[in-house]
Amino acid sequence: MTCLHDRHPSPLLLAGLTGGNWALDAYISRGGYTQLRRILAGKVLPETILAEIKASGLRGRGGAGFPTAVKWGFMPKGDVGQKYLVCNADESEPGTFKDRDILHYNPHAVIEGMLIAAYVLGTTIGYIYVHGEIMAVYHRFEEAIRQAYAAGYLGKDILGSGIDFDLHAVHGYGAYVCGEETALLESMEGKRGQPRFKPPFPAQRGLYGRPTTINNVETLAYVPFIMAMGGQAYAALGRNGGQGVKVFPVSGDVERPGCYELPIGTPFSELLALAGGVKGGRKLKAVIPGGVSSPVLPGNVMMELNLDYEAITKAGSMMGTGGVIVLDETRCMVHALLNIARFYRNESCGQCTPCREGTAWMVRLLERIQQGMAVPQDIDLLDSVASNIQGRTLCALGEAAALPVRSFLKHFRHEFLAKIGQGGNPTV
Ligand code: SF4
Repeated sequence: MTCLHDRHPSPLLLAGLTGGNWALDAYISRGGYTQLRRILAGKVLPETILAEIKASGLRGRGGAGFPTAVKWGFMPKGDVGQKYLVCNADESEPGTFKDRDILHYNPHAVIEGMLIAAYVLGTTIGYIYVHGEIMAVYHRFEEAIRQAYAAGYLGKDILGSGIDFDLHAVHGYGAYVCGEETALLESMEGKRGQPRFKPPFPAQRGLYGRPTTINNVETLAYVPFIMAMGGQAYAALGRNGGQGVKVFPVSGDVERPGCYELPIGTPFSELLALAGGVKGGRKLKAVIPGGVSSPVLPGNVMMELNLDYEAITKAGSMMGTGGVIVLDETRCMVHALLNIARFYRNESCGQCTPCREGTAWMVRLLERIQQGMAVPQDIDLLDSVASNIQGRTLCALGEAAALPVRSFLKHFRHEFLAKIGQGGNPTV
């Protein structure tokens, strides 16, 4: 999978990057750390930064799309003890690989974003939690941290400002559920990576029981750019009512899979064209627009949509991480869903019964359909199992497992029925 930096109409994060210019001197030559210098020179107050982030319309890019300025506002102000900032780099949802590329090609944008966020939040210690299956990225980020310390951008009395910030990289061991922020905190504390019961939320009791703000890699990486151009100017980069730009990882049946940085609100058809169109000139059957947890949409519906939070929600799916998976006309939707269902069954942490048992039941039913051993009523049973997981679990993984099942059955039920009618495919 390559990252196609040269095809972005409005690049910020991935502009002109190649494998060799991720390091500190290259970042500085692109204007890097200018915003941190300006802020720490005392010219920008934390409230002013917060107002710019609010004006930018920046929303969490880890999937939930929660407004970043609001999240930062949850950090208690009068608390005198230690507070933490954590960058969530545990990206591991199938179809999503943008944070991996941002960390690999532009790690200092993430570090500068964290420094600015830490200044606003009043935190002096930060961590980045990197997914355990991308160790090359983890080691590069560690090197970027060393460079930033050596240049005085991290540590005590940064640039003579009197401000301290220490940043540490840690990595998980490949569990998808550790991308859930409280499971991530448990893992960082050396415990089993399982989601906590909420409330209390991390802003009240997070890492080591102290107030903690957790932001996604892409979210933090855009902060220096927003400060450079101003919140309103960043928001105005969006199209068709969208605000700002984001990185869309594209995978599946396209000619040129990779990461594309585009204005939010760009028509999906334009992104598909940038990715070279459907592979082999075949017809588009379906699109999963935001990582595999987002409901699938028929190709003809998606071709009319803009890549915008509201537009995709209105169409019955969600922007999620922006990880677009393209399925062409040759794809078997039963097999595609079985693949997704197996992922969620394997990644369930097992704490709550509807998720632990339900994900396993969904796989068993799908295998039965796929192998030609099902009856038509099994389709309703499958839908019923999925609906009984929804809203009954501790964390969003249960919902993420149920939504694909329900949407595949909604839009492609005929393929499931046909599979039963044809006696299935016992080889898969
Ligand atoms: Fe664990 Fe699933 Fe419950 Fe989340 S929903 S806490 S992954 S069992």
